[in-house]
Amino acid sequence: MKKLLEIIERVEKARLATDRHRIVKIVAVSKYTDTNAIRSLYAAGQRAFGESRVQDLQAKHDELNELPIEWHFVGRLQSNKINALLELQPALIHSLDSFKLAEALDKRAEAKDVTINALLQINSAKEESKAGFEPEAAIEAYERVSEECHYVNLQGLMSIGAHSEDRDVVQKSFETSREIFDKLGDKASVLSMGMSGDFELAIACGSNMLRLGSILF
Ligand SMILES: *Cc1c(COP(=O)(O)O)cnc(C)c1O
Repeated sequence: MKKLLEIIERVEKARLATDRHRIVKIVAVSKYTDTNAIRSLYAAGQRAFGESRVQDLQAKHDELNELPIEWHFVGRLQSNKINALLELQPALIHSLDSFKLAEALDKRAEAKDVTINALLQINSAKEESKAGFEPEAAIEAYERVSEECHYVNLQGLMSIGAHSEDRDVVQKSFETSREIFDKLGDKASVLSMGMSGDFELAIACGSNMLRLGSILF
């Protein structure tokens, strides 16, 4: 698929300009599209796909059951959807945005005797419309979830770039997340940031996982 190749080339260029040794993974956010488009991207080699609603993830997961797709959940998770999500065994939940949600997830995972990989979502631009932990509270929250929620396996951080036309403002929001990521040291390996409009900047600021939707579909 031409579009995927073009994007991989742009990712590669940004990656090589920043850090030749970093692996940058693309999660194709398929929330805007149907299973036919997912199939064609899969045929082109894409394996990780992300959805932002549990019902959509469930439907697409079931329809594409024969493909070994790595499913990611990137949206706001309501506590009444936790069980349904855990049943789908997603590879990674990007959007752990409160301690209450971490506790609820931990409890349900324990009851099912499964562990779930997750990222702590940081509201790095402190926008009211966005979920996530305040940057100042992030390290303590990360340590608390790691210590208290034994069925939640924290792998790193997720952040959505500032909603701004000003590149400096977006960059600053990415750098805020990167600083927290660096402080976590070997406790965190995934830094999920960068979407269709800002992924090259996100790579320059340290991202190693992109969530790309509209640009791919
Ligand atoms: C929709 C969505 C994306 C993809 O956004 P695009 O701008 O279309 O690339 C990434 N992350 C989250 C959390 C989303 O909800």
